[in-house]
Amino acid sequence: MREGEAQQAGNGMRERQRVLLLCAGAVLVLAPADPLSLGHFSWRPLAVRMAWALFIAITAASLRGADARRVRDMMLALAVLSAALCTALAALTGGTSSSLFHVMLALPVVIALVIQDQPSATVAAGLTLLGGGLGVLLAAGATLHDCWQWTGQAVIFTSVAAYASGVYGRLHAREEALRRASADAAARARVSEAAIAARDEFLAIAAHELRTPLTSLLLQIEAIERGMTTGSGTMSERVGIVGLGRQARRLSGLIDGMLDVTRLTAGRLELVFEKMDLAALAREVAQRFSADAAAAKCTLRVDLCEPMLGTWDEARLDQVLTNLLGNAVKYGAGGVIEIEGRNDGDNVRMTVRDHGIGISAADQQRIFQRFERASGQRQHPGLGLGLWITGELVKGMGGRITVASALGAGAAFSVFLPRRPPTAPGSGQVRLPAMTPWDRDGSAG
Ligand code: ADP
Repeated sequence: MREGEAQQAGNGMRERQRVLLLCAGAVLVLAPADPLSLGHFSWRPLAVRMAWALFIAITAASLRGADARRVRDMMLALAVLSAALCTALAALTGGTSSSLFHVMLALPVVIALVIQDQPSATVAAGLTLLGGGLGVLLAAGATLHDCWQWTGQAVIFTSVAAYASGVYGRLHAREEALRRASADAAARARVSEAAIAARDEFLAIAAHELRTPLTSLLLQIEAIERGMTTGSGTMSERVGIVGLGRQARRLSGLIDGMLDVTRLTAGRLELVFEKMDLAALAREVAQRFSADAAAAKCTLRVDLCEPMLGTWDEARLDQVLTNLLGNAVKYGAGGVIEIEGRNDGDNVRMTVRDHGIGISAADQQRIFQRFERASGQRQHPGLGLGLWITGELVKGMGGRITVASALGAGAAFSVFLPRRPPTAPGSGQVRLPAMTPWDRDGSAG
């Protein structure tokens, strides 16, 4: 039995014990009714009551540690004995003229209330009461009509009580099944959360371990590249080193992306806010892309309101623009790429627009999610992480990113930023909160 279920069973047992002890108390408290029925005091009914209360109390005490089958047997025995003792009490306090005789038909109802989950106990008590009552009636010389009347009443009371108890049992079973199902779902969610955490942990370690040797490799490539500007090496060596540098930098970008993913999900990514000019940054990034754009036969057009001042993380906005421009060059199909920056009161907007392959409406819903790429783009390499990271960074600066596109008609990605993000201090660092497994794949737009 699982911990939660064991606790539930324990609570159920304690509740049942409490109800039984209350019943034992009620049996004793009603003792003054017996001399009233008899017209004088007698020890015998009191002894029966005490035995009845004691039996109920012993049953309550024995419930501790009993398994379900034993509990069922004990409840059945208690129901039958209670009906028998109740009848005996009626017989000892005046038989058919006893006030108890007129109310004891309610006993199956009381038993159905106290032992709700066991209709069989109610039926057994009802049958015992029927037999006992008939005995009392016959001893008092009652007519056949009286006996039939008693039988009919006992059957009706017992049937109604047993039916109610059966309905309760079914409802209880359904509730129990639902509770179990939700506990199972919660356990499964915990397992998959742990698996996601393990995957993220692995990604973090792998990215970190790859980063170290790659950094020294890049430093050496850059040293060779610098040496080559003096004219050393053959033409094919120079071409080889340039290609090597490009691949190493691409690898480095991919690993940085993986590291950003793990930092973002673990809440380890910090934004450093400071006053800056977004237009100047956009111009610088465009300048950096001029060679790549030319290689892809794209024309860069920059149209910026200057200055575009605000408090943001400059390095991260550099990453955002680099990512959007990189995509525009990659998917721009050699057309014009426009970088447009506008001031708008307390906000700014930066749009990177290309006239390339475009994105279908269905894919536009997905591309801001982690590891998601538009369908049918296998010819362009990529992990599907850039836009997710971009979206999260923009969100971290209090902004949002949108896309307007259609298949074959290019794409325009717009970043909207408040000049003074609500999350930003005057200047300084802010750590973005860790994500739940459900946040991680959410859309940024
Ligand atoms: P990656 O480009 O590395 O696959 P991104 O997250 O940057 O990852 O982009 C996700 C996907 O969005 C891309 O795979 C591509 O299908 C689509 N996409 C992004 N930018 C553009 C664009 N300018 N034009 C067409 N499709 C784009």
